Amino acid sequence: MFNITPTPAFADNYIWLLKSEQNPEVAVVDPGDATPVLERLQSEQLSLGAILITHHHHDHTGGIRRLKAAFPHVRVYGPADEPIPGITHPLTEGDEVQLPWCSDSLRVFEIPGHTAGHIAYAGDGLLFCGDTLFAGGCGRVFDGTMAQMAASLQRIAQLPEETLLYCAHEYTQDNLGFAQLVEPENQAIAARQEATRMMRSQGQPSVPSLLSLELKTNPFLRTQNPTVIAAAEQWAKKPLSGNVALFSALRSWKDRDYD
Ligand SMILES: [Zn+2]
Repeated sequence: MFNITPTPAFADNYIWLLKSEQNPEVAVVDPGDATPVLERLQSEQLSLGAILITHHHHDHTGGIRRLKAAFPHVRVYGPADEPIPGITHPLTEGDEVQLPWCSDSLRVFEIPGHTAGHIAYAGDGLLFCGDTLFAGGCGRVFDGTMAQMAASLQRIAQLPEETLLYCAHEYTQDNLGFAQLVEPENQAIAARQEATRMMRSQGQPSVPSLLSLELKTNPFLRTQNPTVIAAAEQWAKKPLSGNVALFSALRSWKDRDYD
């Protein structure tokens, strides 16, 4: 399987780099900025074989043009239904991405909501989920719908609990602050907030995240929990029934009254 490491970009993005044993060719996920990727490839003497894109936002796609100029044969995988210049291999649900230098393949999940055509790449025990799920939180709903996002998060929640979630931003501390507002008595959230503070103070990324931990600490995956339901209803000032209504209230609460 791959060795996966982050390259930080902008203020809080991670560009994941996938490398297989003893092969100088690598893939990167969502290179919003070419500069840190090119610097890293040069310093580690690596060659870029593939770019994997999850959705169209500029902080995930802005580096494609310069990376293609530097590596003209690079394969650029991305969602078929989003406007992204430079894609060479458009993907839809169920497609397999076979990286030519690597025996493992990745499977494509369509997980709309943050954007209408957002996809994820699933490998053996891991998921590159872009801006859909974050550690302790989830992405905002831009050109998709609340119902789509709620369904996409439920789909991720159904994966094996030991799945590692490679999200694209370092938002964990902020997200856990909101999680604590929703569930002040949840000890798993408090412990995670403390562990995250330690990691960040040592300059360590707080991701990838383990799905089992998300299920205990991420309010957006806990819409069936009675405390989460009660808190969302109190914020919305009305009874809420069903996953979509609960999710929408939590997302709106965080958008309007927290961030
Ligand atoms: Zn985005």
